[in-house]
Formats: sequence, C-alpha cells, structure tokens
Amino acid sequence: MNEEISADNPYSRLVALKKLGVVQNFDTIRQFSVAVVGLGGIGSVAAEMLVRCGIGKLVLFDYDTVELANMNRLFYKPEQRGKTKVQAAKETLEAINPDVVVHGYHFDITLVRSYDHFVQVLKTGSLDDSSAVHLVLSCVDNYNARSTINMVCNELRLTWFESGVSEDALSGHIQFMIPGVFACYSCVPPLLVASGVDESTLKREGVCAASLPTTMGIIAGLLVQNSLKYLLGFGQVSNYIGYNAWTDYFSTMTVKPNDSCPDSNCLHWQKVYQMEQLKKQSSEECD
Ligand code: ATP
Ligand code: ZN
Repeated sequence: MNEEISADNPYSRLVALKKLGVVQNFDTIRQFSVAVVGLGGIGSVAAEMLVRCGIGKLVLFDYDTVELANMNRLFYKPEQRGKTKVQAAKETLEAINPDVVVHGYHFDITLVRSYDHFVQVLKTGSLDDSSAVHLVLSCVDNYNARSTINMVCNELRLTWFESGVSEDALSGHIQFMIPGVFACYSCVPPLLVASGVDESTLKREGVCAASLPTTMGIIAGLLVQNSLKYLLGFGQVSNYIGYNAWTDYFSTMTVKPNDSCPDSNCLHWQKVYQMEQLKKQSSEECD
C-alpha cells in the first residue's frame, strides 16, 4: 500500500472517515480477506466496491465466462467476452487497486469433487494463508450453490452474508449468518429447498430471468455496507434486509437459529454459542 496520504490519494478520503469519527480504525481494512462466491450482477459489483475501499485480499469463485448477455449489468466490458469471469474480474480489480491481493478459482462449488478444495481455499484464505477468510459473500443465483456455501460455513464456523435478487428483478435481500448465532440457510430454508424440488425443473420455457443493474447495484451496496460495518465494527449490522423496488420498501428483521436445523454443525455451534453466552453472563455477574 502506498503510505503517502495526500489530497489526491483516494485512500485519504477513506481515512477521513476516521477523522470525522465515523470509523476509528479504517486502516485495518487492509488486513481483511473476503471471499466472493459468484461474480455475476451482485458479486462483481460487491468485489469492486471492496477493492475501492482498500480491502487487503479477495478470494473469488465462479464457474462461468463473460457473455454479451451480461452487459445489462455493471462491471464487465464487451471486450472481456469469452474470458472466465474470475480472470476478467481479477484483471479489472487489480487495475483499479494494485495493492489488493486477488486469488481466483474457476470451478463449480457444488460438485462433490470440488468440496475439499473449496473448504481448503476458504480455510487458508487470510492474507498470509495461515487462517480462514474473515467473511464470505454469497452472490450465487441458485439454491444448490447457496446450500453448499451454508454447509462449508457451518463446518468452518465462518461468518457470511447470503444475497439475492428475485426472478423479476424487482426485489432482493441480504442475510447475515453467524453459525450458531443467527439462522443458517438450512434453519429456515426457502419453501423450494425444504420441499426438495429440483430447481432446474422450475425454469419456465422460453422465459429467462429478468435483470436490472439498478436492483443488483442496490443489493451489492447493502451487502458491502453491512460487510464494512461488520469488519470495521461501526454502526449496526442488519441481520436481514429485504428490498422491494415497486414501492421502495425496505424491511429488516432478525432470524434466530432453529434448534431442529438439519445441519448438525449448525446445532453444534448453537450449543457452543449458548455456552459462551452463559459464561459471559456469569463473569459479568462476578464483576
Ligand atoms: P444469468 O444467469 O442471468 O445470465 P448470471 O449467471 O451472471 O446471469 P447472476 O445472478 O448475475 O447470474 O450471478 C450469479 C453468479 O454465480 C454467476 O456468475 C454464476 O456463474 C455464479 N455461480 C452460480 N452457481 C455457481 C456454482 N455452483 N459455482 C460457481 N459459481 C456459480
Ligand atoms: Zn441451521
């Protein structure tokens, strides 16, 4: 990182947040590593925001290539067509901020043969490769991939955000997940997942999902805003935010974990968290 903080250095504008008393420790952002899973309309924009905020490291996952059909979204350019999204994103992100470390992985995270690799990369994703990434952002567009991310984060006790935009592009959400503390993806699954229906059989013939760069940009903004609050410890991290574009209505709520969750790791972390809370309470009473 260029240490010279001058008026023309973009970093000085971020450090101003400290001077204004908003964030006491903005500089610590350089120590954090964030995984972004899915580099489509939400993930690519979220990655760019994090890079422009001076994040230390990004670990990117996607199995797709850039197509002209993606140009109604932000981030990719027509000349990147044919490149893997991971490669195209890495090039753009490193050009915006050469200080950021970007690692990219081009594979399907839901394949059984990819599982151990996915776990290993997240487990060693910190800046010095010695510990796990600090946060995982789920920006995929299908239940299967979300369930895989949920399973890995419950296994490794990783904090993550789930995000999504509806098929008609007019609503979206983000959800904050800390294993054992808040509901995981299996605690309160969407009806479809709970009923075991194969998602691919539900695609309507001749109808492709709509897409708006506006809705995706708004959801990416909420996702990164809450990621910054979590990593840097300012403000209040929302557990769930829903956005409805028809009426510009934002809803928030807290979703507690389910003590009958089918994920055994989730149940384990729920018990660990309860024990931690009891210990905290009794030490507070002693003080
Ligand atoms: P569309 O399907 O509408 O043309 P898209 O594939 O870019 O666009 P988005 O919702 O914008 O969809 O982004 C989701 C991203 O998540 C895509 O880039 C997709 O490749 C990625 N993704 C989805 N499932 C997986 C998976 N199992 N492994 C890796 N990446 C995935
Ligand atoms: Zn659960």
